[in-house]
Amino acid sequence: MADNLRIAIIGAGMGGLATALSLAKSGHKNITIYETAPGLGFVGAGIQLAPNMARILDRLGCWKQIAAEAVQCSDTYIREGSTNKELGHVKLDYVEKTYGYPHMVGHRASLANSLYDGCLKEPSITFKLGSLISEAQFGPNPSFKLTPVGAPDEERRVECDILLAADGVKSQTRVSMLTSLNETATVKDSGQAAYRIMLTREQMAHDPELLALIEADTVTRWIGEKKHIIAYPIHNKQIYNISTAQPDTNFSTAPNTTYTTTGSKSAMMGVYDDFCPMIHRMLDLVPDGDVVEWKLRVHEPLRTWVHGSSALVGDACHPTLPHLAQGAAQAIEDGAVLGVVLAPSRIADGSPDSINAALKVYESVRKERAEALVELAAENGRQMHLGSGKAKEERDKIFAALKSGKGPVPDKWADADVQKMIYGLDVVDEAEKACLAQGLVAKL
Ligand SMILES: Cc1cc2nc3c(=O)[nH]c(=O)nc-3n(C[C@H](O)[C@H](O)[C@H](O)COP(=O)(O)OP(=O)(O)OC[C@H]3O[C@@H](n4cnc5c(N)ncnc54)[C@H](O)[C@@H]3O)c2cc1C
Repeated sequence: MADNLRIAIIGAGMGGLATALSLAKSGHKNITIYETAPGLGFVGAGIQLAPNMARILDRLGCWKQIAAEAVQCSDTYIREGSTNKELGHVKLDYVEKTYGYPHMVGHRASLANSLYDGCLKEPSITFKLGSLISEAQFGPNPSFKLTPVGAPDEERRVECDILLAADGVKSQTRVSMLTSLNETATVKDSGQAAYRIMLTREQMAHDPELLALIEADTVTRWIGEKKHIIAYPIHNKQIYNISTAQPDTNFSTAPNTTYTTTGSKSAMMGVYDDFCPMIHRMLDLVPDGDVVEWKLRVHEPLRTWVHGSSALVGDACHPTLPHLAQGAAQAIEDGAVLGVVLAPSRIADGSPDSINAALKVYESVRKERAEALVELAAENGRQMHLGSGKAKEERDKIFAALKSGKGPVPDKWADADVQKMIYGLDVVDEAEKACLAQGLVAKL
């Protein structure tokens, strides 16, 4: 029976959890998630919850829980970092009317926990935490090595019928897949790093300008040469989430070095030294020792995401710079599409050929879109980080034209045409249409 196929998902991040939940909702009864972490105590910073993500989470029954503590954004300001001068202001309240969901910002933990809670309610999903997966093998009967964390003697090979690897930007499964296909594509160094900071309302309350920031329903981006800061209130406006992007100077350029490091506060203050006094006061609230710096990594596009009965999901196949706030949204779109194409009724005979055909439809619906957004996010970073010169002057003219309500928004995530392309497309509908076009018709 196709609904009892052994589905193995590697990684319990947004991509893995969304994939498991979508497959459970589509009728699969035998789904196992393998995750290295011994427990899923989700922590971390804020995250933008775009309408294309919200639409899927609502279908999966997770959205209400997230929306209850998220903040709805009514507008966004793009400001010059050095002066705090307004460059552009875009109202976002049209988003809900147009796309059915508002643009919200929330706590990463709330997004992950609601997906995890959804998975826990599904008897068909089993978690194998503390499982390090390596040496995946592909073809019609995928398998991989499972090493229990802390118990290497119990290492064993596990077989499955469908292998879905959502093991993140450092994906070992991607490496194994490329080796097996005799192909190369490498992790690219973006040359950028990010500080991720969360300030509490109490920390900001004494300063009227900072208090106004946490009280507004606003996403603010302060831009400067080769760097920017984006910030918004989360957790019912009890936390102000700040994320930066600047040249990476603290990490080795070797691709395998750590992705996070304890940053130095004085180095951070130095990087934003030419930003305005209000930003200095804001950054200065971060306690010494609490500065965390992330390396931002991307990857060369892969020729394919699919090998036999296996596929890559999320950052494992399309890691995206955060400048469009779409990485997790795209991982969740992957999961939703996998739920459609691999529905037990569509791969009724459960054969490796049917599974491979379904995974190819997944790739056809997802790859071009996700990779276009990877490129658009990188381009948005380049635009926001312009220094002096002609290109900057042109950009600032476009910002200036916005004041009379005209023209495109240089900060692409706030541009109406880009939003239409990202939020206006329902990937589940697209997947249904693609299944029909490929003859992957539900058989009851
Ligand atoms: C600064 C910053 C800001 C961002 N802001 C946004 C935003 O506003 N909106 C948005 O949509 N996206 C945003 N993103 C992107 C988003 O965080 C990622 O795209 C998303 O988390 C990717 O999810 P994933 O499930 O593919 O991978 P991950 O979240 O990396 O999950 C991978 C999982 O696999 C596990 N794993 C790895 N290797 C193994 C192994 N060998 N065996 C078993 N388990 C393994 C890991 O422990 C992990 O749990 C941002 C990213 C950054 C860096």
